[in-house]
Amino acid sequence: MSSAPVPKILKQNKFSPLALEIVKKLKKSGFQAYLVGGCVRDSLVGIKAKDFDVSTDATPEEVKKIFRSSRIIGKRFRLVHVFSRNELIEVSTFRADTSKTNHSSGIVKDSEGKILRDNVWGTLEEDCIRRDFSINALYFDPVENHLCDFHDGLKHIQKKILVSIGNPLVRFEEDPVRSLRAIRFSSKLKFKISNDVKEAIYQKGNLLENISNARMFDEFCKIFLTKEAQNNFNKLNSFGVLKYLINTENHPENSFDSRFQQAALVNTDNRLKASKSVTPGFLIAALLWPRLIDAAKEKGSFNLRKFFRSMDRIIREQQELTAVPRKFHGYIKDIWSLQLKLETRLGHQPYKILNHPRFRAAYDFLLLREEAANDTQGMGEWWTKFQRINRPAKIEMLKILRDSRSGPVEKKFGFLEELS
Ligand code: ATP
Ligand code: MG
Repeated sequence: MSSAPVPKILKQNKFSPLALEIVKKLKKSGFQAYLVGGCVRDSLVGIKAKDFDVSTDATPEEVKKIFRSSRIIGKRFRLVHVFSRNELIEVSTFRADTSKTNHSSGIVKDSEGKILRDNVWGTLEEDCIRRDFSINALYFDPVENHLCDFHDGLKHIQKKILVSIGNPLVRFEEDPVRSLRAIRFSSKLKFKISNDVKEAIYQKGNLLENISNARMFDEFCKIFLTKEAQNNFNKLNSFGVLKYLINTENHPENSFDSRFQQAALVNTDNRLKASKSVTPGFLIAALLWPRLIDAAKEKGSFNLRKFFRSMDRIIREQQELTAVPRKFHGYIKDIWSLQLKLETRLGHQPYKILNHPRFRAAYDFLLLREEAANDTQGMGEWWTKFQRINRPAKIEMLKILRDSRSGPVEKKFGFLEELS
């Protein structure tokens, strides 16, 4: 079915005024133009759309001519960014169907079938075939109130199921990131994944190895920083593709490592739900913490030198998977090293730590460790109290701590002297 009755929910929805203006202007200039992708899908599901994409038969150059505030971007996939002061809309030109050989001149694939460049313009129908899932291939014309649905997207939204356009084995070869997108959409929308898509994730997931670390970092953020971190983490793990996003072992359920990672994921989701800020740096620091602790072990006990020496290597190994921006490297290492400083609490150090720019993050991290397992000896609680009380009470707390450390406890904190 190509032309579907427009569901009420879509009519009522308030689309971005800039996106609507772009569609109107393109149509006025004689082009076809539709709202497409996530914004139509999310509106139909009843979720507030987060960004708006426009699809048109105007070429990037023609789009650029119409909108003064716009810029052509991309090489693999050329499109136009049209922006206002506080919004940016992606306008893409209809792409040709890549399976048609007569178009092959503009499509460049690698030896494994991955599409490297995709800049051959086509028709609306052809553009539709290139999209990943039926629910992402709904085109809405808000001017004429018209919905194009060539692949039963509307039916699949009603049935809450993710269905591939074309054979998913081939589609995931063309672009292996589609397997991550399938998992992400199923969590976000609470949709089932159709069986052939599941099978394609199992069979083609290993191709994720060939995706650039820059693109994988973008996906990492979309997967883990959009309120579904825990859900996605567990699904990725069960499909065997988690290892392409984060350098972690598959820890046994209920082990400290697993409980700590889960606590960090839940914490990320809860912060986002409460509209608090999150950074990929914090989550990466947490997800890699078990690996760091493991690397710092020597003959079963903690070795301080190995701990510090392993930090750079572990970040480097993660870097091979996802291009973690440089600014986060120092942040991650600070959080890790501060875990030890939060533990030592010697002399004037506790006062200094309170003013450390990363204190808050390191303290939150410590609380997560404490929540996941009792290997922190109540340190999280100690710091919670220490922050709240006045100077004389702080002195008293430090005195009590000093006194408690004479005797056998001192041994437990064997690395204290080295640290101070
Ligand atoms: P969200 O913005 O919520 O992540 P989205 O569906 O809008 O979801 P985008 O990455 O913004 O995702 O892409 C917009 C549209 O472009 C998608 O709905 C889909 O139709 C198409 N698309 C994006 N990435 C791919 C891909 N890798 N393969 C095929 N089609 C894609
Ligand atoms: Mg989008």
